[in-house]
Amino acid sequence: MFGNYEKVLVVDDCEFLRRRLDKELRAHGYTVQTACDGVEALKLVEGQEFDFIITDWDMPNLDGELLCRCLRTEGKFERYLYIIMMTAHTEIDAVAGFAAGVDDFLLKPINVSELLARMQAGVRILQRDRKMANAVERDPLTGLFNRRSLAHRMQVSLDNCHRIGRPMSCIMLDLDRFKQINDELGHTLGDTVIVSVAESLKLLFRANDDIFRYGGEEFLIVLPDTDIENATLCAERCRSSIEALNLESVGVDRKITASVGVAQTIPSERSSIDLVDRADAALLLAKKSGRNCTVTDEQLLESTEKVADIANG
Ligand code: GH3
Ligand code: MG
Ligand code: MG
Repeated sequence: MFGNYEKVLVVDDCEFLRRRLDKELRAHGYTVQTACDGVEALKLVEGQEFDFIITDWDMPNLDGELLCRCLRTEGKFERYLYIIMMTAHTEIDAVAGFAAGVDDFLLKPINVSELLARMQAGVRILQRDRKMANAVERDPLTGLFNRRSLAHRMQVSLDNCHRIGRPMSCIMLDLDRFKQINDELGHTLGDTVIVSVAESLKLLFRANDDIFRYGGEEFLIVLPDTDIENATLCAERCRSSIEALNLESVGVDRKITASVGVAQTIPSERSSIDLVDRADAALLLAKKSGRNCTVTDEQLLESTEKVADIANG
């Protein structure tokens, strides 16, 4: 009924109300989590995405108004969070609430039908927000993330990995001799190949891995919490699933292959640009090594050292 707009966080210091809203909203198809104050709520929103925050105004530690201000910090979330403030004060301080970033108010005692109706109004706003975000962040041909969204998304993943002390890897993949496909089969079939490759990549990755259409027939996959060994296995899986594509039925009379470069963050690395550059350099070596193969940045380093050794006699 609500599409993808169902994740709700209920924040209230009254356990009875938390339980009641949890039960009622679940019964109406929402996925609900609860927090007893603003501090607990902020912890929860760090690790996962919500659509709605339904929060009390008066709470110990961090009240609803301050929580709202924190949630509205510029650049904190990519997705719009719809915030409904609950209060027992009959005189709502609407000026302070809206200034803090509240979208709507609800008077206590809570009338659940009214809450649900107000959330429906929120869904309309969220639908619009997600649609616009999609248009900005996604590539229209493949539905993958586009290059414009790369820097921000990658930095968020990198910061998360640093926080939990885990490595992050990325895979850069470029289709081989693609110009020939366009020249010999036409641009439209070229597009069909790009879409088919994108679809096969989508099947291979986890929800928190991001797949980008980096350029025309270049794809970049960001793998948080993944070391180079596992990233290389993923890269090989991508390469072989592209090689196994059979597109004869749509008029593509040949095997499609890709060359792949893989790189992992180094512990001190705070910017994602170097990681992409190293995966790109590894990809270049894969092209030079005959295409349809995977090269890691470690192998790239070894081969650079070998060249230097030869040059130095
Ligand atoms: P290499 O193995 O060295 O990668 O050879 P290549 O022919 O793939 O070389 P390159 O990467 O330089 O060429 C990519 C080609 O992809 C050039 C361009 O015409 C084509 N291309 C870029 N974007 C699109 C697109 O959206 N659709 C189609 N059909 N072709 C595209
Ligand atoms: Mg190419
Ligand atoms: Mg290319």
